[in-house]
This record gives sequence, C-alpha cells and structure tokens, in this order.
Amino acid sequence: MLSWMECPACHQVTPIQRKRGKTKRRGHVKTMWCPFCKKVTPHRERF
Ligand SMILES: [Zn+2]
Repeated sequence: MLSWMECPACHQVTPIQRKRGKTKRRGHVKTMWCPFCKKVTPHRERF
C-alpha cells in the first residue's frame, strides 16, 4: 500500500510505502523528512 504525503512547506508529494493496517485516516499528519526542502515537516496524508 502506497501513501502520498504532502509537504506543507514546498507542497511536493512524496510516496511512502506503508504496511497494510488500520491506519486509514484521511488527513492524517505525519512528521517526516522532506527530500525536496530537506527539512522535517508535518506532512499531510493524501489519497
Ligand atoms: Zn518540502
């Protein structure tokens, strides 16, 4: 299952591999490193 995480700083969307599970929350925010602006930002999950 692939999740698309949008960076709030540069608005790039990064695909991440995610294990199948109960985490099917719309608009879920995950703090992770952005490879585009090279900062740790609160990414928002998109579909
Ligand atoms: Zn970014």
